[in-house]
Amino acid sequence: MTRVLLSLGGNLGGPAAVLAVFRKTLAALGDAVVAVSPVYETPPWGDPDQPPYRNAVVLADRPDLDPEAWLALTQELENTAGRVRDPARRFGPRVLDVDIIAAWDESGEAVHSDDERLTLPHPRAHLRAFVLVPWSKIEPDAVLPGHGPVAGLLTDTTLAADARQVTPTGEALG
Ligand code: ATP
Ligand code: MG
Ligand code: MG
Repeated sequence: MTRVLLSLGGNLGGPAAVLAVFRKTLAALGDAVVAVSPVYETPPWGDPDQPPYRNAVVLADRPDLDPEAWLALTQELENTAGRVRDPARRFGPRVLDVDIIAAWDESGEAVHSDDERLTLPHPRAHLRAFVLVPWSKIEPDAVLPGHGPVAGLLTDTTLAADARQVTPTGEALG
């Protein structure tokens, strides 16, 4: 099990702080990083009463990690960034969210999991312009397992409208 598409998001402390957290997260991933998308400003998803988000996606490869180990690592990255979960606000503000959007084994086969602790592909990825827009930027031919080409998903009426609100900031993650 090797390759994952990670989604990074955050909106606490202001854009510069979120960017600094993203940079630290990428540094911690080190040589595993294969490609990094531009940074986007995006409207909050699922809970409107909060500041806009910064989002990016990262394609990463670690031959030694299976999906469970990837989940442990991404949660460690969130904890290091100071993520505190508010059980009363499922989609509330956060300093860093790292989600595993999809995972592929060494032969390129997508991993499927219905486990609540680790659902793969991510069960809401196909509804989220803030994931699909940055992904299509680094992999124009990307396919979301179970849902088809990302470019096609983005032409869906609702997603196309959402995608117009996902705007590149010009900030670089290195
Ligand atoms: P969403 O999953 O809708 O983006 P969220 O990222 O805000 O919401 P979290 O509080 O970060 O949700 O995570 C809730 C739980 O989701 C985690 O404890 C984790 O075990 C579980 N989870 C299930 N599938 C995944 C996945 N593909 N990537 C990351 N976490 C996942
Ligand atoms: Mg999330
Ligand atoms: Mg999450």
